[in-house]
Amino acid sequence: LLQLSVPLNFIGFVYREIRQGLTDIEEMFDLLEVKPEVLDAPDAKELVIGNGAIAFKDVHFAYDPARPILKGISFEVPAGKTVAVVGPSGAGKSTLSRLLYRFYDVQSGTITIDDQDLRTVTQKSLRKVIGMVPQDTVLFNDTIAYNIRYGRPGASEAEVTGAAEIAQIGEFIRLLPEGFETKVGERGLKLSGGEKQRVAIARTVLKSPPVLILDEATSALDTTTEREIQAALDVVSKNRTTLVIAHRLSTVIGADEIIVLKSGVIAERGTHAELLAQNGLYASMWSRQREATQAEEHLKQVREND
Ligand code: ADP
Ligand code: MG
Repeated sequence: LLQLSVPLNFIGFVYREIRQGLTDIEEMFDLLEVKPEVLDAPDAKELVIGNGAIAFKDVHFAYDPARPILKGISFEVPAGKTVAVVGPSGAGKSTLSRLLYRFYDVQSGTITIDDQDLRTVTQKSLRKVIGMVPQDTVLFNDTIAYNIRYGRPGASEAEVTGAAEIAQIGEFIRLLPEGFETKVGERGLKLSGGEKQRVAIARTVLKSPPVLILDEATSALDTTTEREIQAALDVVSKNRTTLVIAHRLSTVIGADEIIVLKSGVIAERGTHAELLAQNGLYASMWSRQREATQAEEHLKQVREND
């Protein structure tokens, strides 16, 4: 009887956590420690992380065999560099990040980190080295401190507040009546998309992973928030191998390489300057986004002058 009560309590704990409906995908898999789509190979080894170089080689992938999503994708993110992926909605950008985190396995081709095929290593050891800032962060129904410390449960109070500063959310938190002890999530203080993203960034700062995946929010952020988030991301991604699914031009400009994905193939690739010179898809996306930003700034000025 005693032996049984422990696992049952544990299941109850997991169940309650899920019922709270807070977790983002990364945490949910951490909590459950199960994976419906992908299983470790019986002889799976621990990933041995070096500098964290990523390589996609001729990757094909489909959620449904009848509908190919990625059709032969090859690119590298050299250790410590940043590669940005841009392209129309539905092109397969987020799918790249899901494959790298190994929510799914490739159908053919390979993805490697430091020359180790992701299919040959344990998922646990893989996810330990990857920090993921997802498109839409859902927070635990707990304090802000808890939500940040989740990145590294042993972290001290000073480390938690330091991470918040780096993520450009420290001042915002300090001005709350209960500060870092403020409850957030569904049943607590509702944070804006930009605030939640900065909490996720603070968590990632604490985790300090060698490999970073950023899936930027698609929703239009105002220019100030965007600048703050960009500053935070610049600090986090510095000298870290970073794959960023980019919607903001500010991220793209500084990337070591930009991949333009369209209908599951790489349509264009190069640096910002090279792609502008090509005068193709990227150049037209760039000018469209610039016009939108200028229109937003103009509208803001008009409102401020009213
Ligand atoms: P992007 O991030 O570029 O907007 P995604 O990688 O999210 O695109 O999705 C690429 C395509 O795969 C889309 O057509 C999308 O509808 C489809 N897709 C995404 N996730 C799933 C899924 N879990 N099951 C089936 N199809 C999916
Ligand atoms: Mg996406």
